[in-house]
Amino acid sequence: MADSYDVIVLGGGPGGYVAAIRAAQLNKKTAVVERDKPGGRCLNYACIPAKTVLHTAELYDQARNGAELGLVVRDAEIDWDALGKRRATVSDSLSSGVKMLWDKNKVTWIEGDGTLTAEGDVAVGDDVYEAGAVVLATGSVALPIPGVELGGRVLDTWGAWSLPEQPAKIAVVGAGASGCEIASAYARFGTEVLLIEMLDQILPTEDKDMARVVERAFKKQGIVISTGTPVEKVEAGADSVKLSYGGESAEVEYLCVAGGRAADVEGLGLEAAEVELEENGKVKVDEYGRTSNPKVYAIGDLVNAKALAHKASDEGVVAVEHAAGAETHPVDQNLVAGATFCHPQVASVGLTEAGAKEAGHDVKVGKLKLGGVGAGTVYDDKDGLVKLVVDSKYGEILGAHIVGNRACDMIAELVAAMALEGGYQELARIVHPHPTISEAIFEAARAVDGWATHA
Ligand SMILES: Cc1cc2nc3c(=O)[nH]c(=O)nc-3n(C[C@H](O)[C@H](O)[C@H](O)COP(=O)(O)OP(=O)(O)OC[C@H]3O[C@@H](n4cnc5c(N)ncnc54)[C@H](O)[C@@H]3O)c2cc1C
Repeated sequence: MADSYDVIVLGGGPGGYVAAIRAAQLNKKTAVVERDKPGGRCLNYACIPAKTVLHTAELYDQARNGAELGLVVRDAEIDWDALGKRRATVSDSLSSGVKMLWDKNKVTWIEGDGTLTAEGDVAVGDDVYEAGAVVLATGSVALPIPGVELGGRVLDTWGAWSLPEQPAKIAVVGAGASGCEIASAYARFGTEVLLIEMLDQILPTEDKDMARVVERAFKKQGIVISTGTPVEKVEAGADSVKLSYGGESAEVEYLCVAGGRAADVEGLGLEAAEVELEENGKVKVDEYGRTSNPKVYAIGDLVNAKALAHKASDEGVVAVEHAAGAETHPVDQNLVAGATFCHPQVASVGLTEAGAKEAGHDVKVGKLKLGGVGAGTVYDDKDGLVKLVVDSKYGEILGAHIVGNRACDMIAELVAAMALEGGYQELARIVHPHPTISEAIFEAARAVDGWATHA
């Protein structure tokens, strides 16, 4: 036996690194096994690099299209080398920050591939580490789309975010959060973008009204959208990719695949340790993250519910608190907000209008266009919308949806309101600062009963 720990976490992404730090804060001797970089896929290949590139795309677009706002930038251009360097620097600096936090909290980083043993301990190479509890946090990998082979000019999401040059024309397959972010960034760089979705709306998990607002905005930006059209055939050549979908065909420089994701369980030794899987290949857990092996927990993209970094982190906290016998409570998955950083941004929490009706609620809805409040016009954010879905009997906020430039920050207020069980009538009486886009929130609450001033 190489060494023993109270808690060993497998995977150093947002689920695993936060879980390790929380375990150490609870005075548990803790190690993280990570084969790549601290911060995991989110920080090094997904969330963070994507947002870094999106930020530059936003600035570039504003520089090119600011004349009406009195902003004239002559000869604005993207320096792809500098952008690539900044993307790497941002990730590296945050990854070093995670390592620093591990050091500060006396979390040991064991570099390598971890596997569960039959006893529920952890093997890394020839070394076996005894564990009081193990937290599996190995994340997810891209699910292939049938008939589409990745490689060359057919890119996964990381390939799309790390292109070294501006393509003239790309196609993005899959219009979920990642696909919409890629489409939005490249459209703002001036690339011709074709966005293909097999389901009948872009952002298929979002409320229909919100998806419609984004679709309109995307079309205005020149993005060509095709919904209800699975990709039928892909032929990748040396200089281009030909594809057919829904009776149409196209030839593009790159095809980006932004489909679903599958739990990364390969080589984890789950069977030997008697850790069971769900039918969809995710690890089966209870509300505290306990697997079928009482010593082993699983969190983040490995388990069901939304594949989001903040959800992974919170599940990590709950799992180690539970393992340590500390006071804790399960993550309320209904209150995990979704956030998509395309332009305009999309954020939501709780139920869609259709979902609330399906769940049997007697539903009322309040909507306010961002153009209604002064700040929408000041900040050129008129196309957005706030929509609240409420229960007419008790006034409970069942779902909140925002499209607009600041949606992903603004949603936090509605998560708090719902977590604290505030009703929409209370939200309608909360005074918001002026002029801010957040005024659309209390106005949307007032709109439920038809008394919004700026409707
Ligand atoms: C392009 C893209 C953009 C995204 N943007 C956002 C966003 O803006 N906001 C958001 O909330 N979510 C976003 N997500 C989702 C987010 O990345 C995931 O939900 C999050 O990374 C899950 O965290 P995790 O800790 O479960 O796993 P991961 O971040 O996947 O980390 C798992 C780690 O485990 C390591 N590992 C795997 N197997 C082993 C092993 N056997 N031994 C040792 N180490 C191992 C891997 O190397 C990896 O570092 C995005 C996803 C993609 C693909």
